Amino acid sequence: MSFEHKKSLGQNFLRDNNIISKIIDSINPMSDDLIIEIGPGEGALTKRLVNKNCDLICFEIDKRLQDTLSNIKSERIRIIYEDFLKVDLKKYIDKKYNNVYFVGNLPYYITTAIINKITSETHAKEITIMIQKEVANRFMARIKTKQYNSVSVFLQYNYEITKICDVSRNCFDPIPNVDSIVIKLVSHNKYKINCQNEKMFYKLIKDSFNYKRKTLKNNLKNYNLELIDNILKKYKKSINNRAEEISIEEFIDIANNLNS
Ligand code: SAH
Repeated sequence: MSFEHKKSLGQNFLRDNNIISKIIDSINPMSDDLIIEIGPGEGALTKRLVNKNCDLICFEIDKRLQDTLSNIKSERIRIIYEDFLKVDLKKYIDKKYNNVYFVGNLPYYITTAIINKITSETHAKEITIMIQKEVANRFMARIKTKQYNSVSVFLQYNYEITKICDVSRNCFDPIPNVDSIVIKLVSHNKYKINCQNEKMFYKLIKDSFNYKRKTLKNNLKNYNLELIDNILKKYKKSINNRAEEISIEEFIDIANNLNS
């Protein structure tokens, strides 16, 4: 009997060995690291991840995949049949692990929820994920481009983002109606922000991009605009600029000077 794919669970299984190899080759953990795979499906990636020689924990929401996945034999694999978004990750990430690597080809509508969960609950070293092409381009977007938005800033503040490969819709079974990109987010500590100002930084970004076509002056009405304008002067900018013209470093400088 053939497997009945559930659209609601984003069940588009990867069938292209070339793409699978590119993803697998981009993940290089040491033996005392941990890989967490989200949504292994029929195990296209899982079968190869077990050769990485480190512990592997997979979270799969659909118990119907149990028969297929149980064929993957390894002493270091653990498959948990639960909703990744609902698990308590701390319970699974033992302190003995040096670094944690996340990997997943997942339903696209939960991309942001997954990244938020990983970022807020763990200290992931790397996150390698397949996402919809347009979304990937927004994540990687640079200043002064149409795609640069609050999510670009949030993510690039925490991670260096690189593209692993483009993935045509034809690489999946069944074929979805969007093309994809595999990206890798590598955590960095490039930016220095005063701890108590981090919350302020996130709020500032959200507010600054609230209405994309509006200037900072109009989006940040409840802020000390004089102070912000003074900081921006250093960069030959002002509150008459739009958020898409402000770099991460400049946003950080502003946040560090706002009173929390
Ligand atoms: N990684 C596999 C499967 C991709 S399809 C491959 O590349 O072929 C996406 C998989 O994620 C499906 O197996 C689906 O059942 C699973 N999934 C969907 N939502 C999930 C969730 N919230 N938690 C864990 N797994 C989920």
